[in-house]
Amino acid sequence: MPGISAPSFTAAEIESEAERLLRALMHVDCDPRGRRWNYDTCREIAPLTLEINRLKKEKGAVILAHSYVEPEIIYGVADFRGDSYYLSMQARQARAKMIVFAGVVFMAETAKILSPDATVVVPDRDSGCSLADSLTGPQLRELKQLYPDATVVCYINSTADVKAESDVCVTSGNVYHIVEHLPARRILFVPDRLMGQNLREEMKRRGVDKEIITSDGTCIVHDQFGPAEMAEARTRYPGLKIVAHPECPPEVAAAADFVGSTGAMMKYVKGSGAPYYLMLTECGLVGRLQVETPEKHFIGGCRLCPYMKLNSLEKIRDALVAARPDQVVTLDEPLRQRAARCIERMFELAPTD
Ligand code: SF4
Repeated sequence: MPGISAPSFTAAEIESEAERLLRALMHVDCDPRGRRWNYDTCREIAPLTLEINRLKKEKGAVILAHSYVEPEIIYGVADFRGDSYYLSMQARQARAKMIVFAGVVFMAETAKILSPDATVVVPDRDSGCSLADSLTGPQLRELKQLYPDATVVCYINSTADVKAESDVCVTSGNVYHIVEHLPARRILFVPDRLMGQNLREEMKRRGVDKEIITSDGTCIVHDQFGPAEMAEARTRYPGLKIVAHPECPPEVAAAADFVGSTGAMMKYVKGSGAPYYLMLTECGLVGRLQVETPEKHFIGGCRLCPYMKLNSLEKIRDALVAARPDQVVTLDEPLRQRAARCIERMFELAPTD
């Protein structure tokens, strides 16, 4: 593989690392680059994962990997793997000197908001997000002027600027609970229009009187799913369970067997005995489930987030050796403090389970 430096490890160390990698990666059959993971491919990347894991110790760094990045990052070098909220919490608790966030930029910003003393780096500065990048702080300020009496609720998939302008942050796991219990009737929910529509439906279902106003962002991965592919899959696979993320369109959420955050989706599949699953989310999560529940069967094609796939082992290694200025996340301190207050409010209002 290009970019892998000459190893400074013994043959025995490399073989042992290749075997470790193979134990996890052999189960991945929906690799984003179509690779088949066998001993040879694992042996090829073993010098690089060894180098990264050694650098990590030398630098006092932790590597956080979102479930949507490539499996060799998740199982080769990550200290923690999961969704952005879980990862930021782990980063804060780890009190690391350096955090390498293999995910997208808004996630690294969230880690910086919660761990201001750590050096937080992103492997690729272009790893944006269609949702977070759909709304800027100044645009939200204009929206707030149109709805001055609204409580502003931002989904965690938003920039630090947007968090700084919001009253409370939410995740896909706690959004319904938090909005239900806010005193205000009028809610300005940003930046995910589809999650906002799902929120509106859920409030109606719970008999809660809320006016939900949204901005117009969507996730380019989750907004692609539709009811036609769900109906076809159900016909072909009796007993199928369809699992969707709340960033999907409302008609998809309504027809799914389970709707939940990345973490909740994993928990649901692990606890279910269904013969087949159709996961309406980014393909990386299917890869994780293949590794962690190899006895289960996943059907359907692969939807990829191009931003997440900008991460690579080589970029992580380079950031650990000497992070370039564009890889280091910096936030203006007053803005960071305002964004932190919005997240702290979420901790106060989130359910305790
Ligand atoms: S999967 Fe969607 S929400 Fe997640 S980073 Fe990619 S574009 Fe953003």
